[in-house]
This record gives sequence, structure tokens and C-alpha cells, in this order.
Amino acid sequence: MLMKNKQTAKRQLTVRFMGLFALILLLMNLIFVGISVAFVYDYVSDRSEHIFDTIENSEPSRQSWSDLVNSYVIQDEGEALQVRLSNGETYYSEDAAETFNDVSEGKTIPFLEHFVFVDDDRYYYEEKEIDDAEVSLIIDSEAIADITINLLMVNLLLNIMGLIVGAVLIYWMVGRWSQKLSKMSTELNQLDETQGYLTVPEDLQEIYQVAMAFNTLLEKQREAIKREKQFVSDASHELRTPIAAIRGHMNLIQRRSETHPEVIPQSLAFIDKESKRIELLSEQLLTLGRVENKNNLEMIDFSSLVTQEVEDLQLSSERDFILQIEPEIYFKAAKTDLQQIIQNLLENALKYAPTGEIKVSLQKNDKINLQVADQGIGIADEEKEKIFERLYRIDPSRSSEINGSGIGLSIVKALVTKYGGDIQVEDNKPKGTIFIIHFPKK
Ligand code: ADP
Repeated sequence: MLMKNKQTAKRQLTVRFMGLFALILLLMNLIFVGISVAFVYDYVSDRSEHIFDTIENSEPSRQSWSDLVNSYVIQDEGEALQVRLSNGETYYSEDAAETFNDVSEGKTIPFLEHFVFVDDDRYYYEEKEIDDAEVSLIIDSEAIADITINLLMVNLLLNIMGLIVGAVLIYWMVGRWSQKLSKMSTELNQLDETQGYLTVPEDLQEIYQVAMAFNTLLEKQREAIKREKQFVSDASHELRTPIAAIRGHMNLIQRRSETHPEVIPQSLAFIDKESKRIELLSEQLLTLGRVENKNNLEMIDFSSLVTQEVEDLQLSSERDFILQIEPEIYFKAAKTDLQQIIQNLLENALKYAPTGEIKVSLQKNDKINLQVADQGIGIADEEKEKIFERLYRIDPSRSSEINGSGIGLSIVKALVTKYGGDIQVEDNKPKGTIFIIHFPKK
């Protein structure tokens, strides 16, 4: 619904470009008018200066004023000269008296006070003292002003034509440009959840980048959806297997318990084991789903926490632990998250390194560095990335009797990432594995 009120980019851009274009033209016209007026003014004031100079150079005497006045007007009909002598005598060039009379009633405009407007006529007026005479000069600037006005009109006409042609061109060009966006949005609407990509236009860099970024995001999204689906099916498979086993033993008990009561304890033990597996798996799945939750953050004495966790485990496992804990390392986190990380790594060390000592260290330099090193079966290089995937177990541990779901390390990784940290696996010497976690210092 909202879309209806939105202007198309095509219209909006055209209107803006045209506004800008018209503004630039207006400015240029104003400059043109200014320059034209200055030229006209300059031209006639030059002419006037020239006339005054000539009069001055001819050093007129009282007798010759009359000749002088007439000789000048002969040159040009548009010029009129008046000479007023101190004794009250006044000389006019031919027909000048009338012109002077007209001009005396004309209007002037600010800044260009030498210009006088009489009805539709335009004159240039200037007066000057030469010897004891007051010489006034009028130049008819009608012709040159007309030329300028005509030029202005032509210019205006050209501008209007330019505006019309410009509008059509801009509308067309913007249309071609926005067409790519409209095409993109049509394509977007038709995109399938699982296949197809946006066509990437090569000529416009911005649109190219948007289309590329969108396609990359689409690819990632699809991979994520695929992984999610895979995870759900793996998880249901993992749950279904022990459930099927439990049901098998239930059947066995129902069918055979009367004739062969000795199957009961055996089957119950099996049911117990498998139901524990389901319990663990569902708990871990829930934990994994809740990792993002960032509640209950507090400053934790990480050093004491690690020490405490190791000591608790030592009581029940009778294994040798070596602790290298730098005291008083604090870290802001949810306590249960840090416990999960430590417990998972320690449990794995116990499971996959049945013998040998387990070394746990916590140090602080430019980062907080937690390491758990065992001397167990080790992890092959090609598995080092995969063990962090959800439900992934290395084959021997999957088939062997070692309990597990393949979720522990993915929980650890998700928790470490949640706090801006990273986790790596390295080989221990002479054998075994070292898990190394870095947390940013806070
Ligand atoms: P689980 O232990 O429940 O199988 P994890 O996600 O904790 O799941 O571990 C994934 C896999 O990584 C394990 O199945 C095991 O094969 C391997 N692994 C984890 N920790 C160790 C370790 N300390 N030494 C050798 N292999 C390990």
C-alpha cells in the first residue's frame, strides 16, 4: 500500500536534475544580462569620454562654441550637445534642445545613473565643466540596447529549448538507469528459495556491487538453511537410534521375560544407558539453541573458576592434572557459559586420553589464553576443523564405546565466539591434543 505513495526514482531524479539545470541556466542568464549591460554602458561611456576629450583638446573660445557644437552633432544623429556659458548663453546642437527637454523629464536607475529612460527610449547623459562652460552630452543608446535585448531574447529562447530537450534526455537516461533497478526488483520477487541468482549488471559499479553482495548473501543463506536441515535430520537420527534400541529391548522383555527372566537386567541396563544418551543429547541440543542468550553477564574470577572445575573433576576421576593458572584473571561473562567451556574440554580430555596427564593453563598477555592439553589419541589434521561441527564425531570415537553426541565442541565454539574469542586445536607432543582458546581482554 505504501508503495503507491512513493515517487519513482525516474520522476524524482528528473525533477531534481531539471530544477538544478534551470537554476544554473537562470544564473547564467543573470550573468549574461549583467555583462551585456556593462558592455553597453562601457561602450557609450567610452564614446562620451571621446567627445569630451575632443572638445577639450580643441580649446574652444567663446566665439567658436557654436561651430563646435554643430560640428559634433553632424557626426551622429543620436548625439546631442548643450553648452551653457557662464554669461547665460546656451548653445545646442541641431534638434538638441528638444532632446534635452525630454531627457530632463526621464528616469534614472540606481548604479547606472548615466542612463536615462524616457518612455521607451534609452539615453546616456553626462555633463562636464570645460573652461567656463557647462557641457552636457546625450547619446541615444536605443540601438545598442535593442541589440542587447534581442540577444537576450534569443538566449532565453535557446535556454527554454535547452530545458525542454534536457528534460526529455534526462527523463530517458534516468529511465534507462532505473530500469536496471526495476528489473532487479522483479527478479528478486521471482527468486526461488533454493535456486537462481540476481543478474549482475556489469556497467554500473554500485548496482554491480549490490547484486554481487546480494548473491553472496543468498548463497550463505542457502548454505545455512541446508546446514540447518541437515542438522535437524542428523539430530532426529541421533535421537531415533537410541529410541529404537530402547523399544527393541522393551519388546524383548515383553516377549521373553516370562520364559527367560535373565534378559531383564541386561535389557534394563541397556535401556538405562540409551535413555541417558537421549537425555544428554537433548540437553546439549537445548544448550546449543540458547547460546546466543546474553543475560547474567558478570565479572568472573576466571582463575578460581578453572581451578575449581579441575579440582571437582579430580575428585571423581583419579587422573593427574597439572595446573598452570595465573591468579586473578577476570573476565566478563555468564558463569555457566565459562563452566560449560571448561567442563566440555576436560571431559573430552578424559574420554579421548585414557592415560597420561592433563595440563590446564590460564594466562593473560594481550589476550586471555586458556589451554587444555592431553596425551590421548590425538586428532588428524583433516578432522581439526570438522570436530566443531554439530553432531560431528570422528569415526573411531563414533564406533567405539566412548560416550558422546558430537555436540560438545560445537557448544564450546559457539560460546567462545559469543564472547569474541577464538578456538584452535594443535597436536600435543609426543602425542595427544591441545585445545587453545583466546578471549579478548576486558
Ligand atoms: P563428543 O565428545 O560428544 O563426541 P565433541 O563435539 O565434544 O563430541 O567432540 C567431537 C569429536 O572430536 C569427538 O567425537 C572426538 O572424535 C573428537 N575429540 C574431541 N576432543 C578430543 C580430544 N581431546 N582428543 C581426541 N579427539 C577429540
